[in-house]
Parts: sequence; C-alpha cells; structure tokens
Amino acid sequence: MAQSQPITEKQKEKAAKIHAKVLTIDTHADVPINMMKDGFDVAARHDFDQDGSQIDFPRMKEGGMDGMFFAVYMGQGRRTPEATAEAKEKALAIFDKIHKAVAANPDVAGIATTPKDAYELQKQGKRSVFFGMENGWPVGNDLANLKLYYDLGLRYITLSHSANNDICDSSTDPDGPEYNGLSPFGEKVVQEMNRLGIMVDISHVSDSTFYDVMKLTKAPAIASHSSCRALCNHPRNMTDDMIRVLAKNGGVIQINFVPSFVKEPSQQQELSMKAIRLKMRQVDLSDADKKALYQEMKDMRAKYAGDMPTVAEGVDHIEHVIKLVGVDHVGIGMDMDGGGQLVGCQDVSDIGNITAELVRRGYSEKDIEKIWGGNVMRVLAAAEKVAQSF
Ligand SMILES: [Zn+2]
Repeated sequence: MAQSQPITEKQKEKAAKIHAKVLTIDTHADVPINMMKDGFDVAARHDFDQDGSQIDFPRMKEGGMDGMFFAVYMGQGRRTPEATAEAKEKALAIFDKIHKAVAANPDVAGIATTPKDAYELQKQGKRSVFFGMENGWPVGNDLANLKLYYDLGLRYITLSHSANNDICDSSTDPDGPEYNGLSPFGEKVVQEMNRLGIMVDISHVSDSTFYDVMKLTKAPAIASHSSCRALCNHPRNMTDDMIRVLAKNGGVIQINFVPSFVKEPSQQQELSMKAIRLKMRQVDLSDADKKALYQEMKDMRAKYAGDMPTVAEGVDHIEHVIKLVGVDHVGIGMDMDGGGQLVGCQDVSDIGNITAELVRRGYSEKDIEKIWGGNVMRVLAAAEKVAQSF
C-alpha cells in the first residue's frame, strides 16, 4: 500500500481546511523528558535539526496540534519500597513541572482533564495539555496514590512499561511473564481507575494482561501508543484479535509512529542495532566509550535512513484498524520525543501531512475528526460516565 498517487494541490487545500477545523489530539507525548532537563522551555521554539526535540508549544501551534497527553514517564526500576517511593517523588516532580509550565503560559495553553476542556481551549486558540502516566510503577502498592494523581489531572495510566511491575506483565520483559496477565493488585488498580475515571491504557502490556483488562474493565480502554502487529510484527503492537476485542469494549487504539513499530527493520539494521546495544550494556564504559557508541548509533541510523517509514506507511496502520473494526476505534499517539518519527513527520509542526494523506485516501471530514480526536474524547467521556455511576 505504498503511496501510489501524489497528493494534489486541491487535496492539500481541502486537508488544510479540515485540519484547522477538527480537534487534533495526540495521546502520547514524551516532551516532559525534555522539560525535566535544565534550560528546556516548552514555550520556546526549538529546532529538531539542532537538538532533536519534536514538541513545544510554538510548534504545536504551527502544526495545528490542539492537544497532547504529556506523559509522566518512568522507566521501570527496582520494586523495593525505597525505589518505589523515589519513583513517586519523581512522578510528582514531573506533574509539578508541567503544571508550572502551563501556568506560566496562560495565553498559550491550558490543563485539560475533560473533552469539554479540550474543545473550549481549542475555541480559545490554546493548546490542551492532558496528563497520562506511562508505567504504573509510581502507584507503588497503594491505591490511594491513584486518587492523588487523578487530582493532579491524570486521565490515563499505561499499566506497565518495558518490564513487569507489581500491576501486570509487560509485553517485552526479558524474563517473560510473572502473573500471566494482571496481578491480584493490578486487578484492584484497574477497578480503582474505573471508579475514579482514569482511562486504562494497555500499550506496552503483554497480550495476557490485555485480555485480563478487557474482562475486568467497566469503561472502554485505550492503547495510547500502539500499532498493528499484522503490519509490523512486534510484541508491543496489537494483534487483529486484540483490536477487535478492544473495539467491542468501545475503546480506541492510537497509532504509534516509532519506526520499528511501523515497519520491521531490515535484518542488517537489526543486527547492527543488536551489536551496539550489547556494547552499551557493558558496565565499565568510560565517558569516551559512551560518546563513541552514541556516535556509532547515530551513524548507523544515518546509514539506514532509507529504511525509515513514511507518513503513508504510518497511515497504513490507521487504515488497517478502520478496515478491521471501522473508523470509531482508531486515533493517533505518535510517541514524539520518545522515538516517534516518520519521513514527512519529523516534529509536531508536520502533522498536517497526516491529514493530507488521509484526504488523499478519500477519508471524509467526519472520519478525520474521529481519528484525530473525536474517538479518544468519546472514550474519555465514557470513563467519566462510568466513574459517576459508582
Ligand atoms: Zn512507550
């Protein structure tokens, strides 16, 4: 399904009009990783070619990106009481940083926790900043933390990251499954998230965790940043059966643009990557060694730049979901500042190209409105409604 015909001027015009009109929401932005670094101001315009950063308020505005879920991300560490307490402190510091950045720019952005907030901020020409948490590790073993994070604005939690935690199995833990799905504590976490109105995010979790969540959750779930395994065989991506079950539950899969989740890397590229990763795992690397390895990685990326997936190949994943379950269960979670990047979509200012590709394929304004934000806002509203029923 490669790009067969170029996008015409007329299609570009039509796409620009639709793009300006519909609410555009991305459900996975790793910009807080940059915000936590000294000297990074999310209100200042940055340049991808200079610092590799992909998101800030000025570029969101340029690209017509109305709102993003800023990820309170925490890579899985040790599961001791001390390490978990530290994870909570770090998570709170990220919440604080984001709240302060938005408060400092009231003319530019606002915190959003409901669909109403997002549509209101769009009307005012401001960016919506939603909160998502990537990895439930900072929940620790205390359900009360969920209410604490909810009150800070949190509206989804990705139950795990790349390794198992106290909540569930991850899809990529090198040691394999621990519970074959949700842990008994994880079941309580899902129930409490339903009670509060925090969306359950099944990106990163193992297939068995996904099916456990589907059996248990009272509210529709989301995959905040996952792609289709039928098009790119990676355990992080969702199988067709999982997508069908998620759709039946009323949920939505938000397509991830990390190249290795969009298109399987060539064998040569994979082998080179593996070799570098093995070298990086050595414990006694000097700073000079590390620098050399980063350079090697950069060179390797440049060497295989021709293998990078395009916007059309990213949109293939959106279209795959539509063919499978219809247009009501797909959206976009690009994973920018976390590796998400396509040829034609280098940073958030480029997202109009996605809309143009959808128009080229004949999707209507109504379809595009659902894909870009309508669907995920429907799921958030459903999560609220379920919470009110408790
Ligand atoms: Zn992720």
